[in-house]
Amino acid sequence: MKKILITRRLLKECEEKASKAFDANFNSNDELYTQKKVIEMSQGCDGILSSLTEKLDAETINKLPESIKIISNFAVGFGNIDLDAAKKRGIVVTNTPDVLTDATAEIGILLILGACRRVPEGIQGAKDCNWKWSADYLIGKQLTGARLGILGMGRIGQKIAIVAKSLGMIIHYHNRSKLSADKENGATYHDSLKSLMSVSDVLSVCCPASNETINLINKENIEYLPKGAVVTNVARGDIVDDDALIDALERRKVYAVGLDVYKGEPNLNPGYLKFKQAFILPHLGSATKETRTAMGNLAIDNIEEFFKTGNCKNRVN
Ligand code: NAP
Repeated sequence: MKKILITRRLLKECEEKASKAFDANFNSNDELYTQKKVIEMSQGCDGILSSLTEKLDAETINKLPESIKIISNFAVGFGNIDLDAAKKRGIVVTNTPDVLTDATAEIGILLILGACRRVPEGIQGAKDCNWKWSADYLIGKQLTGARLGILGMGRIGQKIAIVAKSLGMIIHYHNRSKLSADKENGATYHDSLKSLMSVSDVLSVCCPASNETINLINKENIEYLPKGAVVTNVARGDIVDDDALIDALERRKVYAVGLDVYKGEPNLNPGYLKFKQAFILPHLGSATKETRTAMGNLAIDNIEEFFKTGNCKNRVN
């Protein structure tokens, strides 16, 4: 039986499945492992089922024992893993695509609604019993007829587009490559981010974190947004230059933000906290029972498939 280090707690059903499939080394206290601890705990293991909370950079990967043949990441994103370093060591890396698309798109839509419709202020007013209905109370931005710019029209971006379109939004997107007509589903393609930004009344960041996308939402690009645009990020915190976005909020260049992800999680730039126009969530994208169960099961299946066949359809390196 293969010995697998599982770095974070999974839902009960998934841990039961893992204990049948492997000699599994669980993290029963759900402690956040340092890089040193991951190296220590993986001694004698054949694989690691990792989470986005472990930074598996080149230095860490190079210190993993020779016996490690696979890192199965419990996420679709793999910005926490140095894929080249893993490849050089002959370690296969896998992810959990598709199963989390719907749940994450739900949060993507919630971020748009929460930021456009002044939900943080509304919640505060209701909790404090400090409000009265009036024709001009907490006037927000209506989604119907607004242009939604999607940066990263992949699985999650396309699902957000379907829901946003049903709410009457007009969809624009930027990817490095243009989609086929059926995947575009009536959306307008922009071959540059600046062009997308210039038509985005609301921006939804849905692309992966990579060397190319770090701080892509920066001072220069933000200037291309229409005045009073709304910026939302359901992808990864690394894509946004926080100081530039906070400055844009300050200047009212940006009307509101909706954020689920941050640089340096679980911390977030305290600059956001002073804005009532900041609708902020604690990385809830895939957090439903159905989705977390499906992700855990897929991460386990990926390891089983790899040891059975020598490859895996969800391999990313
Ligand atoms: P996906 O299907 O791979 O889609 C990614 C899209 O981004 C693709 O359309 C890709 O198109 C585009 N893209 C990649 N690099 C780009 C670049 N440099 N410039 C412009 N566009 C670029 O991925 P997904 O399943 O939709 O997931 C997207 C991301 O969401 C994940 O990587 C993850 O970080 C994040 N996520 C967050 C949560 C959460 O809890 N908040 C949950 C799940 C996922 P091209 O290749 O043509 O450029």
